[in-house]
Amino acid sequence: MISASRYRRTFRRTGIGIAATASAAFLWAGCTPAQPAIINYAGHFRANPTARIHPTGIVLHWWGGTSGGRGINALVDTLNRAGGSVQLGTLQDGRTYQLTDRFDVFAQQAACANVSTIGNEIEGGGNGTSSDMINDARQFNAVVDSTAYLMRKYNIPLNGPIYGDRNLVIGVHSHKEVDAKCPRGNGKIDVDDAYMNKVRAALRARGF
Ligand SMILES: [Zn+2]
Repeated sequence: MISASRYRRTFRRTGIGIAATASAAFLWAGCTPAQPAIINYAGHFRANPTARIHPTGIVLHWWGGTSGGRGINALVDTLNRAGGSVQLGTLQDGRTYQLTDRFDVFAQQAACANVSTIGNEIEGGGNGTSSDMINDARQFNAVVDSTAYLMRKYNIPLNGPIYGDRNLVIGVHSHKEVDAKCPRGNGKIDVDDAYMNKVRAALRARGF
């Protein structure tokens, strides 16, 4: 149960009054979306954050290069080395891991979006495009499942603006889209437009 007073505290801190009010009303209505199969990560995740956020958006990433295709520990090892963090990781086989104790915590996953979004790192993109992941139905459906669940849980819209200069992101976006509007951005290309378009189409088909 989440009290209204905590929400007031939360959005005073993050400055997201309107969205938080709408979400609180949603929670008061008693809607509890069914959670898809998400595995709590049991290994050592060094940067397990505790600072709470009020999520208004979701950011999709890929992890490829030398760490893609080797399972969740490869992602965690990379994050542990870099001092990064992210709430979710989805493997090529469709298993989705929750890396943080809660979804609504501040994770170092996307500059300009950390205080307002939940991130999901998708295993793939190893050649700099989504060609090695976009037709992986098990993984794609798992990504859509967890995204839809979080949208319902936190009343996150499919489409919304990115205010990089205010660290406020609303809606479901790629890291690429967020980074392009972030003054501190550094040219992130994940996930590519083809993958993002396919995710948006799947979410629209589910009524978002
Ligand atoms: Zn990214």
